Amino acid sequence: VKAIEKEEGRKGGVNVDEYRGVWVFAEQRGGKLLNVAIELLGEGRKIADELGTELSAVLLGHNIDDVAETLIKYGADRVLYADSELLDVYTTEGYAKVIYDLIEEKKPEILLIGATNIGRDLGPRLSARVHTGLTADCTRLDVDKENRRLMMTRPAFGGNLMATILCPNHRPQMSTVRPGVMEKAKLVEDRKGTVEKIAPKLTDANIKAKVVDVVKSDKPVVALEEAPIIVSGGRGLGNQEGFKLIEELAEKLGGVVGASRATVDAQWIDQPHQVGQTGKTVRPGLYVACGISGAIQHLAGMQDSKCIVAINKDPNAPIFEVADYGIVGDLYEVIPALIEALDNV
Ligand code: FAD
Repeated sequence: VKAIEKEEGRKGGVNVDEYRGVWVFAEQRGGKLLNVAIELLGEGRKIADELGTELSAVLLGHNIDDVAETLIKYGADRVLYADSELLDVYTTEGYAKVIYDLIEEKKPEILLIGATNIGRDLGPRLSARVHTGLTADCTRLDVDKENRRLMMTRPAFGGNLMATILCPNHRPQMSTVRPGVMEKAKLVEDRKGTVEKIAPKLTDANIKAKVVDVVKSDKPVVALEEAPIIVSGGRGLGNQEGFKLIEELAEKLGGVVGASRATVDAQWIDQPHQVGQTGKTVRPGLYVACGISGAIQHLAGMQDSKCIVAINKDPNAPIFEVADYGIVGDLYEVIPALIEALDNV
């Protein structure tokens, strides 16, 4: 980086006063906005209002004008919409080039990206290209209004401490944010804003890696962050077989299966199911914790759920401190009774 700075005469960073506005990368797949984009618009709106600046959504794709309009309803003052056949499917080179060109031209002070697979690929590529820092996988954002600095907080050292990171001399201040952590923006039908259509300077030659085929995994996708209902199992299940009961209850409720880290470490269930500080952060309408003690690292991933039901045989289990409804009892008696009751509804 030093060599690049020397070469480009940027030793002391950039003139930060030239940079204004908060940008949110509006990730979509097949014309459907990801929840994390709506969460970032909610967070971006708060930050932009605190700094007294504009909130822009950056949308890349092809023939998705309706998505651009939706972004305004979710709070964007402006949508920078790059429409091209070459942007229809995500490619690192194509997306990075278009957003890089936009940053160079319009100079935003903050750029937020969801920490999805695409976001984790795009963020580092972009930050390296604009010679700025990137705080990855943030779980909290605050604003130092006086210095117009974004304070980006993320778990560090395997989740043992929370680190707050600043980007003082370079712009934009870039962060990828964990899905499910921030509250979603509310949709307001008659909100006004502008859609700026960008003609991207992009040719086939800019994209060296081509997507030739998309092969769907035959394993079901664990869409924990998007699920309205989650039924999670913990070490209290006693063994891997216990997850059959969790699956049954989840199915009855129309939800998906979550898990504590203890069960993932014991290889009773795959890691994509893990909820918590080193797993996924979720905020469903209903979270049912079965045989989970409620360790702080588990709570960090689910305590913002709208309604928490805990089943545990220990009346002093910490999970009851965050539960809206607690059932003290053996889960092997309680869950079958719940399933039976649901069958009779
Ligand atoms: P336990 O703590 O063993 O709890 C089992 C519970 O089941 C007990 O409360 C018990 O009373 C109850 N029980 C037993 N039998 C029954 C029965 N028959 N019926 C009803 N209840 C019963 N953990 C996570 O979950 N997610 C994370 O992302 C995560 N990240 C971590 C990161 C770090 C850096 C560290 C140090 C730890 C992390 N952990 C995480 C681990 C965490 O500290 C706990 O060890 C873990 O959450 C415990 O899982 P558990 O609640 O399933 O098991």
